[in-house]
Parts: sequence; C-alpha cells; structure tokens
Amino acid sequence: MNVISDIHHAADDGEEAALILDSVEKWLERDVRPHVMRLEHADEYPHEMVEQMKELGLFGATIDPDYGGLGLNATTYARVIEKIAETWMSLTGIMNSHLIMAACVQRQGTDEQKSRFLPRFATGELRGGLGLTEPNAGTDLQAIRTRARRDGDDYVIDGTKTWITNGIEGACFAVLVKTDPDAEPRHKGMSMFIAEKGPGFTASKKLEKIGYKGVDSAELVFDGYRISADNLLGGVEGKGLQAALGGLELGRINIAARGCGLASAALRDSVAYAQTRETFGKPIAQHQAIQLKLGEMATKLQASRLLTYDAARAYDRGERCDMEAGMAKFFASETAVENSLEAMRIHGGYGYSKEYPIERYFRDAPLMCIGEGTNEIQRMIIAKQLIERNPV
Ligand SMILES: Cc1cc2nc3c(=O)[nH]c(=O)nc-3n(C[C@H](O)[C@H](O)[C@H](O)COP(=O)(O)OP(=O)(O)OC[C@H]3O[C@@H](n4cnc5c(N)ncnc54)[C@H](O)[C@@H]3O)c2cc1C
Repeated sequence: MNVISDIHHAADDGEEAALILDSVEKWLERDVRPHVMRLEHADEYPHEMVEQMKELGLFGATIDPDYGGLGLNATTYARVIEKIAETWMSLTGIMNSHLIMAACVQRQGTDEQKSRFLPRFATGELRGGLGLTEPNAGTDLQAIRTRARRDGDDYVIDGTKTWITNGIEGACFAVLVKTDPDAEPRHKGMSMFIAEKGPGFTASKKLEKIGYKGVDSAELVFDGYRISADNLLGGVEGKGLQAALGGLELGRINIAARGCGLASAALRDSVAYAQTRETFGKPIAQHQAIQLKLGEMATKLQASRLLTYDAARAYDRGERCDMEAGMAKFFASETAVENSLEAMRIHGGYGYSKEYPIERYFRDAPLMCIGEGTNEIQRMIIAKQLIERNPV
C-alpha cells in the first residue's frame, strides 16, 4: 500500500470495489503512465487508452447493470476517478462528461430513450458529453440562446455551445436549449435533447487551453439541425434545467475526487523528490522549511478526502448532500491548486521544467475551481444551505 495515495481509504473498500480499483491501477501503471508525458505535450487524443477504457467498462461505470453498465456507487466511482486523476487528469474528463450525459438519460429519459441510448453509452460505442455552456452564458444557464423550434414530428435547433468536453471526438451530446424563450420563470422554457451529430450539428473548432491536454474542448454549432421529437429528454418540454442541474451533486463529488487525485500526485512526487534532492549536505526533506510544506500538503489532502468521501457516502445513502458536495468540491479543488504550487516550489527549477509532471498539475488544477459550478458559486451554495438549515 502506498501511504500517500491510500491514507484514509485502507479499510474502506468492499470486495467488488477493491477488484475494480485493482484493475484500474494495473491499467494505469501498464498502459497509461508510460505515455502521459508524450500525449500531454503533443496535446494528442489518447485513442488507444479510450479503447482500453471501453474494455475496462469505464464508459458504463455508473450506468445501471440492466443496460450493460458497471453500476458503481458514488464512493467507488470517486475512488476510480481519484486514481485516474493521480496519473492523468485528462482521462477523467473523457469518461466523466460522457457519464453525466448518460446520467441525464438514466434519471430523466423515457424507457424507450434508456433502451435506445444506455447500452451504446455503456460499451463506449457511442460517446459524448454535456452541452450547456454558450459564449454568453456559463454560470447563468437560464440566459442561453440556443433555440429548438417544433416543426411537425421534429424540432429544428439553432445556436452555439462552447467549451464542450469531447466535442470533437464525441458523437452524441445532452444539449440544453430554449423551447420557449419567453417563458417565465425562464427555466420553464428550457429543454434537453439527446442529439447525435449529423447534418446541421457539427463541431466547429478545437479550443486551445493551458491544461487538460489530450482531451478535446470544442465549440458545437447547430445550424438548422433537425432532430426527432423522440429525442426530447423525458418526452416533455420544460424539464431541461432540472436535468442539467440534477447531476450536480454527483458531478461535484467527481470534481472533488479529481482534486484529491491531483493533490495526491503533487504530494507523492514532492515527498520522493525531497528525499533524494540534496542541498547543504542533506536531503531537502530534512530541512524544516520543506517539512512544513509537506505537512500542510498532506493535511489538506487528507481533509479533502474526508470531505469527498463523506459527501459520496451521503449520496449513496440517498441523502440530500448539495452542501457536502459543494464543500468537497471547493476544498479539494483549492487544495489541488495549492499542492501543485507547493510541489513546484519544492522541485525548485525542475518544477518549472516540462520534463517533470509538476507543471502539468499546476496547469490542470485551476480547472477544478471552474467546472461544475465555480468555487465562488460553491461558497454561496454552502452559505445558503447553512442559512436554510438554521431557521430563526
Ligand atoms: C476546459 C473546460 C471544459 C469545460 N467543459 C464543459 C462541458 O463539457 N460542458 C459545458 O456545458 N461546459 C463546459 N465548460 C464550461 C464551464 O462549465 C464554464 O466555464 C463554467 O460554468 C463558468 O462559466 P463561464 O466561463 O461562462 O463564467 P461566468 O459564468 O461568466 O463567470 C465569470 C466569473 O463570475 C463569477 N460569477 C458568476 N455569477 C456569479 C454570481 N451570481 N455571484 C458571484 N460570482 C459569480 C464566476 O464565479 C466567475 O468567477 C468547460 C470549461 C472549461 C474551461
């Protein structure tokens, strides 16, 4: 057991979870770790790894076994995500966005939609993600402008989505639209479609980013895209925002798990480096200034894990956990940012070098503060819950 990556978890895994984690760990060591630096710096999509992820069943990780998925609970899924993020955070995006789309169908789809899409999502034969954000609207989703107009048995969609993970390599997306732009309140005019690429629905360009390399982020363009009314999620208009927001607790637990993975990788590499790098006749791990950093990094990592798995267990018990998931997401992502910066300091000049992975952690970590609701919004959610749960 690695004391850094497994602090807190040792007694926690059931037999099934332990087996899955074991296969994922072996795959990461054998097929992922040796190739990460090359793919990261070439910003190259990891096609081979995606094939291996299909074989491992990861594209069906949280999909119900009735539809061919693994049916993992939130706690085990978070453990899988943490492990993968410890090795290469980008891979978690390829599966996570896809599984959020699958969760929308699983939670709100009609029986026909579930049997049509979920088995293909579970095998990874049909992959994609979630299309919410637009050039003018991210946090304020009710301000989106993409419009779906009814036309006989079809709808016609026009508009642009941006920052969509898997936008180029993915073929199917859960797309949030306005079916009634004049509705009040605004969310009553919002609907979600499960849309496969085709005439009128294309990815326009790959967006350049400082991190999260390998995974494609793209703009999606809908230009007179005709889609059957059978693809309206749940078969009724007006439930789109609910579908988009319904997965947020789980989504935030997953972002928190990614934060734990990055924070853990930064600590692991820092301890190893500090034990071998010598200055003034001894390993830098023997200098108190470095020990203070390691002590703080390990404590914040442990706190992040406690928050993350506390929220995951509450989710698995079926309890409301928006405050807990928000705390976990907020704290673990900030810890990932802090630990990656401290790792850079501990590595000195080598931390700034592209030959070490530290600079990658430093580029990847801030995304966790933005995605699935920014950390500004998380703190507001936490405060609102505090107030709501404390009636005067
Ligand atoms: C690499 C990457 C991948 C992404 N993948 C996807 C994806 O797959 N699908 C998808 O739909 N989107 C995706 N996004 C978009 C992401 O979800 C948004 O960037 C995020 O929701 C923030 O929206 P915004 O960028 O429009 O910022 P804005 O909403 O414009 O916010 C700007 C700033 O204002 C703050 N702010 C906003 N409203 C308030 C308020 N009421 N009170 C206080 N502060 C506020 C925010 O916290 C932030 O600091 C991705 C983004 C990136 C960078």
